[in-house]
Amino acid sequence: MGDSNTRQQVSASASSLRVTGPQRAGRAPRLTRSHRMSTNKISTSSRPSTARADDLRLRRARLDSLLDVRWRLARLAIERRSHNLDDAVDVFLEQLQVESTIDREFPGVADQKFPDWLDADLSLEHDASVLHPECGICQAIARRAGISIPPWQAA
Ligand SMILES: [Zn+2]
Repeated sequence: MGDSNTRQQVSASASSLRVTGPQRAGRAPRLTRSHRMSTNKISTSSRPSTARADDLRLRRARLDSLLDVRWRLARLAIERRSHNLDDAVDVFLEQLQVESTIDREFPGVADQKFPDWLDADLSLEHDASVLHPECGICQAIARRAGISIPPWQAA
């Protein structure tokens, strides 16, 4: 509600700058919407194509954000599992929840990303007796011990 109002205001102020400019095909809907807002006579329920572009941008940002959260949780879960920490399962369950949100909101994306997810997850998995240069816990251990972790060699 408030969110979409803000979005419209932002678009409206952006389009008002273009009113005197050349009307390229892609810009025309913005002018239409600006006109609607200034007259307040026409419902905004049928939205012009720039609104759809805004929606697509928002959806893209939402997906990027979900993927980012998923990767942070996956990373945390693998690190904690690798070091045999009790809460590894809790973090993993949160990871699964985010994955199911991705699957619900963006059907097909999780399936498509799964092989990459698996590769990334497996590349971080390690035995607690060796230090992995990408693992945050190992990095903390190494820092405290004042040592540097050699490059990772996959088993
Ligand atoms: Zn580690």
